[in-house]
Amino acid sequence: MNNKLVEMAEKLSEERKKDPELSALMEVAAQGQAPRFLMISPIRRSSQDLQLFNMKMGDIFHGTRVSNAPLLPPAQSPVLFAGPAAYNQGFPDKRGVIITFDQSEPESIIRESLENVVLHPDLEGLPIIVFRVDYDQGRARIVVHGKGRNYEAENWLLSRLERPEPLDTNTLVLICSDSRVHPPVTPQGLPMAIQTLGGYIPEYTGTEDETSQLNKFFEDWLSQKEVTQQILVVAHGNFDGEGPSCSAGQASLNPRDITNNLLRPIIMDLENAAKPFESVPPSTAEDRVKSLSSAIRKNLLTYPVVNAIAELGSPDFIKILLMDTVSNVISDTEV
Ligand SMILES: [Zn+2]
Repeated sequence: MNNKLVEMAEKLSEERKKDPELSALMEVAAQGQAPRFLMISPIRRSSQDLQLFNMKMGDIFHGTRVSNAPLLPPAQSPVLFAGPAAYNQGFPDKRGVIITFDQSEPESIIRESLENVVLHPDLEGLPIIVFRVDYDQGRARIVVHGKGRNYEAENWLLSRLERPEPLDTNTLVLICSDSRVHPPVTPQGLPMAIQTLGGYIPEYTGTEDETSQLNKFFEDWLSQKEVTQQILVVAHGNFDGEGPSCSAGQASLNPRDITNNLLRPIIMDLENAAKPFESVPPSTAEDRVKSLSSAIRKNLLTYPVVNAIAELGSPDFIKILLMDTVSNVISDTEV
């Protein structure tokens, strides 16, 4: 399965290089990123949202929400929401925040999410663009609200709608929010994804915070007991020649230098989580994201249902993969 995934990523990378528009985007990506939108997608729809709005490399910085639960206030959701939104603040050409909901999600969850999203100080002044989406048909409707809209951006996004490829509900990818890395396509379709700074998720706390929402997601997903389910932890960086490192990984080498007060503690968490997996201090961001991947795997196992499935013994249930930031080529290297 993973060999197939590696082959597919390689093939897609070759195709991108032959397409003049996409190869130009890869050249831009090698210099840095300036995404125009922060997008907060349900875990199930993270990859599909990119196709739905025809978003290419560099277009979207990604945060994550859990379906059928409200987006929590920043203090209760440091990793899924507050961190990516704080990081997004530093980009020069921001046009807005896109939040997507499945069409079946109740209105009350959308309203509560909107109340909470505007509590983030780094999103102040940015239009909030909210869609209810029928993913099977590739249709989306704007949700009208009073928290600051931008009709031009809304219409532009609506004009780009495409029906996304089918979902692969057997695969969950943990990958960075970085606009240049997209979750790898699997032989079954577009995987579910949790996109956070460095692809990090915290330990299960057992309190009413984002980890309880994640725990609920894992319970719903893994209760199906499909033997083919797998979690891919994808670290990214300069793994395929010359190219940029993971910026969150890089920042975690010196987190005290970060001036944004919301961002600093989250990047420090990355550092603290990675350190036990480092025998010597990392000299590159690539070394850091490898040890961070081991920390992510350890944290995944604090969610009881994830641990229960892992103990059934399938060696491929949680896999660590390395992705090159620019080519998006992946290697199946065990860290
Ligand atoms: Zn990154």
